[in-house]
Amino acid sequence: MIVTRFAPSPNGHLHLGHAYSAITAHDLAKEAGGTFLLRIEDIDGARSRPDLADEFRRDLDWLGLEWQEVAPQSQRIESYQAAAQKLKDVGLLYPCTCTRSEIQRAQQAAGIEGGLYPGTCKGRDDLDLEKPHCLRLDLDKAMAGVGELIWTDEHAGSVMVDPRDFGDVVIMRKDEPASYHLAATLDDAADGVTLVTRGSDLFPATHIHRLLQELLGLPVPHWHHHQLLLDEQGKKLAKRRGSPSLANMREQSEDGLLLAEQLRLQRLPGGISLESA
Ligand code: GLU
Repeated sequence: MIVTRFAPSPNGHLHLGHAYSAITAHDLAKEAGGTFLLRIEDIDGARSRPDLADEFRRDLDWLGLEWQEVAPQSQRIESYQAAAQKLKDVGLLYPCTCTRSEIQRAQQAAGIEGGLYPGTCKGRDDLDLEKPHCLRLDLDKAMAGVGELIWTDEHAGSVMVDPRDFGDVVIMRKDEPASYHLAATLDDAADGVTLVTRGSDLFPATHIHRLLQELLGLPVPHWHHHQLLLDEQGKKLAKRRGSPSLANMREQSEDGLLLAEQLRLQRLPGGISLESA
């Protein structure tokens, strides 16, 4: 049975891009007689607004979608900690006390502009762990232990795992209970998601998610990365760039069912286009 999900973070209003994503996931499940889940990704304590989760439910209802809601991330912290401990026990995570500016300085010193973590804290046993620190994945070690890995996207087909662009990615954040990568991967497994449906902007992140699944012995779903809706500048829709919110349209008594039908037919409002496939 197909299980898909929509997993919004309650740190800003939903816009048309979210509607397109939710409708895509909903319809993929519905067409196959499966289940469509809603998961509120409220792990980012400082930025999360509980009132927005309610607004999201009203938005989805207005679009005519039906869903089953699963536990929000704020109720799953222990599972994130347990998984991180498992990775730590096998030597795949290391603590890092670097601040953003220390990382920048180290990158400049090494002649690399931006990009990857330069490994400053790797292999050190003299770190002051009383200081705030995150836990990073030792990517070389992790990759050496798993061999060749493949994941399957409904559009791209078989993709070979290549997470090198992420370097020693943060798995447990300094300021929050876990990273998006760890939390979303664990949650999809716990929720029985079989078809991870989300925008193409998260395609690269799937390399890390597939690796984490292997390291943690989690089931491997398929992925459906859909095209993004773009604004007049060709950029991904974003509330901060003035994309109208679904809540606003709903409050102005626009017809949500009609909007959902238009999005299904890819008839987009003026100024909005679909990313090329
Ligand atoms: N919570 C993420 C977001 O709102 C989505 C994560 C995902 O679909 O994997 O962008």
